[in-house]
Amino acid sequence: MASVASYTVRRTTRPLGRVYRAVCTTHALTALRPPALASLRFASTASTIKRVKEDRLMSELHHTCQWGPGQRWGDHDTDTGMSRLSLSDTDKQVRDWFASTTEALGCTLTTDEMGNQFAVRAGKKSGAPTYVGSHLDTQPTGGRYDGILGVHAGIEMLQTLRENNIETNYPVGVVNWTNEEGARFPISMVASGVWAGEIPLDTAHSLKSVIPRSDSATMKTDLERIGYLGSVPCSHKETPMAAHFELHIEQGPILEKEERKVGIVTGVQAYRWFTITITGHDCHTGSTDLGSRADALLAASKMIVASREAAYEEGGLASTGIIEARPGSTNTVPGLVTFSLDIRGKDDAIVEKLESRLREEFAYIASGKDASVGYKTQKSPRDKVAVKWRKDSDSPAVLFSDECITCVTEACEELFGNDVDKQTRQMVSGAGHDSVYTSKRVPTSMVFVPSKDGISHNPVEYTKPEDCTIGAQVLMGAVLKFDGKRTE
Ligand SMILES: [Zn+2]
Repeated sequence: MASVASYTVRRTTRPLGRVYRAVCTTHALTALRPPALASLRFASTASTIKRVKEDRLMSELHHTCQWGPGQRWGDHDTDTGMSRLSLSDTDKQVRDWFASTTEALGCTLTTDEMGNQFAVRAGKKSGAPTYVGSHLDTQPTGGRYDGILGVHAGIEMLQTLRENNIETNYPVGVVNWTNEEGARFPISMVASGVWAGEIPLDTAHSLKSVIPRSDSATMKTDLERIGYLGSVPCSHKETPMAAHFELHIEQGPILEKEERKVGIVTGVQAYRWFTITITGHDCHTGSTDLGSRADALLAASKMIVASREAAYEEGGLASTGIIEARPGSTNTVPGLVTFSLDIRGKDDAIVEKLESRLREEFAYIASGKDASVGYKTQKSPRDKVAVKWRKDSDSPAVLFSDECITCVTEACEELFGNDVDKQTRQMVSGAGHDSVYTSKRVPTSMVFVPSKDGISHNPVEYTKPEDCTIGAQVLMGAVLKFDGKRTE
């Protein structure tokens, strides 16, 4: 009824509110808003595409947000964030819903020993399923779309396949990954990490809950407590996939800023984390003239500014989130400063170049030769500070599969026709996702849809129903393209 294809029809012949009121009756949601129907034009072939349904997708999504609603930010029933911590009672409730819904849609359900839920719909032939996956857990002050949209889009795909009697060549499935957020059990994407063989099961099972602080639960004890400690080993060998596609909100501002509908995600950016230590001299702020100081905090400040400028010029990112100055006294010039440095880039070469450039620039600033703010008064040997780098993390760029990126691109072409270049763009994910781990074992790619004001991990996180639907349509299209190309 409220499929993507029906936008034009509804715009001209049907009051938009009616569809939504019908939805509201079903799930006692009075606040679903009609989508802002932009001047989207779809390909002339669009009528031949099987359509996901916006009303069903959105009403089901908001229906499951009754389990773990978070902070309220508006007057409508659905104007709340989410606080559904992994393996909590509300996570159990939404898992029960996932199980009963997918079983009612004819799927076979497997739960592994990390609590990952795999729902599989049979195809004409047997073989590893093509999966859609994301997560139903949230941050403590999260929103209704991060992860949740991806799982719901998978279920909407199952609904659409069933109502159109579409039999895929091979099985297709939906996976709900456990504890993607790493909020309650502090390793992000831990369950897909175990599945990929990158994180040991024992490490994951013995992770202690950090919310609330007094909690004594581990992942294993709470998997048992809520009845989701499955017997199937958590491994890509036990629950194999032909491919993994994930729809996710962008969690950044680019699509919205460029007024595009879909991000075709080609990978996840590289990052390196460092702790930088600057050593100068403590001295009295009153009795030490400006020319006789070795001010570690002044040097650190200049380095932080330099890192931002270098990142801009190299097309990467540089950020400092932690800074500590010692001894921490108003009337002592700090002689010891440490600060964090997080540098990122869409590929490893950018990060490498940014790091080597910053090593040079920091050394130059530390040498006291820099003539910009703060050093022109310095002439003494004490001008110099020492700088030390410690590397804390190194995460190379992830490149998604060309094959899967092509499937997403073709699904976009089918949906947008000649408008595809205007409505979509390739992009690299700035955040980690379960797809990072699946990509280590099977062909993987992702689809992004716009986030209002680029905001995520926040109760006001919002993606328009229209955009959620477009994302779900592209996701299903990509799965069907992949299925159609399989020849094994
Ligand atoms: Zn997420």
